[in-house]
Amino acid sequence: MNILLRPTVMELPAVGTNIIRNNRLQGIVDADKKTGQPILYIPAPSSLQQVVFQLVTDEEHFCFFCHKKLTNSNSNVDHLVAQRVGGPSIYKLRPMPYTISAEDVLKGHIDTSNVDVNLIEPVTNCHRTCKKCNNLKNSVDEESFDQALLMIDEGTSIDKVKKFIRNTERQQYDLFIKSKSINNRLAPIVSKVPCDLIKDTWYTNPDDFKRSRQGKCKRFYSEHGFFRELVILDRNMEVVSGRLVVRFSEEEGIEAVNAVIISNVEINPAVFCGKKMVTDN
Ligand SMILES: [Zn+2]
Repeated sequence: MNILLRPTVMELPAVGTNIIRNNRLQGIVDADKKTGQPILYIPAPSSLQQVVFQLVTDEEHFCFFCHKKLTNSNSNVDHLVAQRVGGPSIYKLRPMPYTISAEDVLKGHIDTSNVDVNLIEPVTNCHRTCKKCNNLKNSVDEESFDQALLMIDEGTSIDKVKKFIRNTERQQYDLFIKSKSINNRLAPIVSKVPCDLIKDTWYTNPDDFKRSRQGKCKRFYSEHGFFRELVILDRNMEVVSGRLVVRFSEEEGIEAVNAVIISNVEINPAVFCGKKMVTDN
């Protein structure tokens, strides 16, 4: 098989760190038994988003846009590339300096021990912002929102600024639909992954999918001929998010999907057995 994939590594807190959000243990950073490298273990796919939101909250104390000091009650996590145009919940993912063949992936874990993560600019799609900025921004891109903030500084009325944001949003969405392309910010970390490499052991109930077939994912694909969502995979090629895209691709015989492979994250509920505050979702 001659397919090349681009794995990424996530910048992690120190080995031994427990990541707790909403009173639940959402992640543990531990050393990999084989390589000794730090791995983020999560108990379930849904925990990754919680981990990302917690890391953003721990590390960023000022609004990304207006630089106001933040309190827990006055902050949100904003997606720079909006979820509406395929922006995933990722934080500090570093593209690895090489690509690997699909065969390597099939052989087992991807070896990240030789990667100097400091060499490469991380790709982040989540930042902490004040609620006001988060609400005002909606789904426009960063540059347009900076422009909107400048308009406010220069005394433009808030109604005019909101109108500017609405119009820009519409144009950007139309462009996204027309070009069917991944945002440039995300492009360095996305691989075209063959569906037969992807595992989804967390998928248990076919009824969920039958119901969801009437849902957003199918409607969007039928209308536009591409998927909005990026699939996120752990280091074993297990689905972390984008399950509907994977199921639907299987049903329709679509061979490959756009995905981000995070080589130092692993879904592993066994690591959490007997720990306090274990998530039950
Ligand atoms: Zn702000």
